Amino acid sequence: MYTLTSTKKLENGVEMPRFGLGVYKMTNPEEAYMSMEKALATGYIAIDTAAFYNNEEQVGEAIRNSSKKRDELFITSKVWNTDQGYDETLRAFEKTLNKLQFDYVDLYLTHWPVTDKFTETYRAIERLYDEKLIRATGVSNHEPHHLEQLLAKANIKPMVNQIELHPYLTQTENRAFAQKHNIAITSWSPLGRGKVLGDETIARIGEKYNKSTAQTIIRWHLQNDLIVIPKSVTPHRIEENAKVFDFELTKEEMAVIDALHRDERFGSHPDNF
Ligand code: NAD
Repeated sequence: MYTLTSTKKLENGVEMPRFGLGVYKMTNPEEAYMSMEKALATGYIAIDTAAFYNNEEQVGEAIRNSSKKRDELFITSKVWNTDQGYDETLRAFEKTLNKLQFDYVDLYLTHWPVTDKFTETYRAIERLYDEKLIRATGVSNHEPHHLEQLLAKANIKPMVNQIELHPYLTQTENRAFAQKHNIAITSWSPLGRGKVLGDETIARIGEKYNKSTAQTIIRWHLQNDLIVIPKSVTPHRIEENAKVFDFELTKEEMAVIDALHRDERFGSHPDNF
């Protein structure tokens, strides 16, 4: 049903790839560049970066050196916590553009809802959208109560919320809220930072299709209508993670994986970070 280049239509009609490369903790420039180069050569069309990841230069470089045109690719970046506020966000975005050496970013997110600042941060993101410097607006790590605050004021609804989500943290409440407001969800740490990969139940389900646990989990995200951005710097895993479009989990298997939820986070809770 999906392919490597399948997209999800956001609230404003922009098509966001359902699958991409996450590049958190790729701080060694050479390793970051090689991983991005490998992903683009494998057919990935989306990269999820952030000012905080300190590798936006490598994202720009890998894209310029790839065989793809800029408009065939979808790049997400995020404003870091210490740069939040209206003017600060506008300045931070300019730095991001300079590092990427692009004239626009596809999606720009508030990285975390910094108390007393995140509504102003989002107001700046709306301005960037009005100025056509970004193609879509969004947030990350926002709980429904943060989104309620934004929605009360926003002229442009956030189109994406990127949250920690994997089989041990299925985020049903956040997802129901997003569905009601037509906000797409991106799963960060979709493999639980690698810590869900030892799960025997998922491994057994994968065996039936000759798929690894990582592939089975990625497929679970896709079939849940979630945008998924697994990270790897290992070339064969970058390839492996993309080979998830030739099998389909049954309804029952999806339910078995859903039931593994145990409210376990590998990152911070947004109300307490
Ligand atoms: P992840 O869940 O993608 O797990 C990555 C780890 O899993 C890798 O380091 C590797 O050790 C292992 N792995 C990957 N593929 C594998 C395979 N096929 N076989 C075996 N092991 C494999 O973790 P992540 O990097 O935390 O999350 C993915 C992306 O989400 C990040 O790179 C970043 O782009 C984004 N993210 C966003 C936030 C946020 O606050 N918005 C926070 C964390 C991550």
